[in-house]
Amino acid sequence: MFDTLSDRLSGIFAQLKGKGRLSDADIDRTAREIRMALLEADVALPVVKSFIFQLKERARGAEVSKALNPAQQVIKIVHEELVLVLGGEGRRLQFAKQPPTVIMLAGLQGAGKTTLAGKLALHLKGLGHQPMLVAADLQRPNAVQQLQVLGERAGVEVFAPEVGSGVGDPVQVAKDAIEHAKRHMRDIVIVDTAGRLGIDAEMMAQAAAIRDVTNPDEVLFVIDAMVGQDAVATAEAFRDGVGITGVVLSKLDGDARGGAALSVRQVTGQPIMFASTGEKLEDFDVFHPDRMASRILGMGDMLSLIEQTEKLFDEEQKEKMTAKLMGGQDFTLEDFLDQLLAVRRMGPISNLLAMMPGMNQMKDQIAEVDDKHLDKVTAIIRSMTPGERTDPKLLNASRRTRIANGSGTSVTDINQLITRFTEAQKMMRQMGGMMGLPGRGGKSS
Ligand code: GDP
Repeated sequence: MFDTLSDRLSGIFAQLKGKGRLSDADIDRTAREIRMALLEADVALPVVKSFIFQLKERARGAEVSKALNPAQQVIKIVHEELVLVLGGEGRRLQFAKQPPTVIMLAGLQGAGKTTLAGKLALHLKGLGHQPMLVAADLQRPNAVQQLQVLGERAGVEVFAPEVGSGVGDPVQVAKDAIEHAKRHMRDIVIVDTAGRLGIDAEMMAQAAAIRDVTNPDEVLFVIDAMVGQDAVATAEAFRDGVGITGVVLSKLDGDARGGAALSVRQVTGQPIMFASTGEKLEDFDVFHPDRMASRILGMGDMLSLIEQTEKLFDEEQKEKMTAKLMGGQDFTLEDFLDQLLAVRRMGPISNLLAMMPGMNQMKDQIAEVDDKHLDKVTAIIRSMTPGERTDPKLLNASRRTRIANGSGTSVTDINQLITRFTEAQKMMRQMGGMMGLPGRGGKSS
């Protein structure tokens, strides 16, 4: 699922890598490419349009963070917009104040309703509820039996018309089921309804009648994520014909393009609440828009990294550093240690590298070396006295040997660190000069 879209997006982000800032032309080109990628993934046109509009507005806008490079900024915006398209916060089931809570499932035949009924029952049972399944799909041959098998597997009671009882009216079955649930202390009733291969008036009328007799707390519309553009028309028909309160995406394990998943929220105005990801009862999840968006971007770690980077380099910290340089003070090994520790708190370097499109394959090898290197540098600075951290010139040969022993490194490691650090410090001073900051010795200003 979403593989093509993910690949397309990484390719688009890769082109932004290394850019100092984004010109309007860059933003337009990027937006155009993302638009194409979404359309190719079968996302409904109105959804694509509003997505691209927001993206452009935000990429051009003043909200752009100074802590992130342009590629990161675009990724961040795309991620946030994806989360919104998928429903923002997400929503949990609403339970009735007076049990039983009634959950009605609706959708086309083959959408995955019956399978979902079993999954949902197992999920709710796991949460300590006493769910009951109702076989109100009397249209499809075997639907009742299928539900009974699933109910048995989930260890949940199934209410169904007895074979040969002559009860062929799903509305009556649903009505009886609610009474049965009340008598037997079932706190949740999940009603499986019939679907047709296409939308038709009779099916809608039946679903509406079941809705009227069961007075459901939730009407969940189950949609096969593989159906692409048709999803929109189907979703609209169910929204208007039955009225739905939530959406369940099924067959998210398939390799479809994913357009339905990205369109259905906006088209129905109702949240996606669950995801079905396989034929087994356990292949089921509460739907989290943010996790799904991260999966689409294929960059879960990187996104939290972007968040952390923003925090790390937040304005306050920048001001503190600027104030220090303004005061004519040098950037010391102590400051360097602070920053190293902050970087290390962000997790392994592989996370940082995963941000760079194309680095994914090599990241493990590079990361291992670099994490070790950072840890080494941290150990060296920690073995120094505060005086030495401010003024490395105090480090004579015997101190260097002591520190090497103390930090489990070699004198060469220490020499290298000091040389590099002194160079970096010199550069910072020059940069301070260029920015009009007083250099060392300018304390009087
Ligand atoms: P219904 O007609 O809406 O009740 O649909 P069913 O629950 O009978 O599902 C139709 C077919 O899709 C069955 O073969 C299911 O095993 C299969 N199916 C349902 N959900 C999923 C899913 O999440 N992933 C996959 N791969 N197959 C599913």
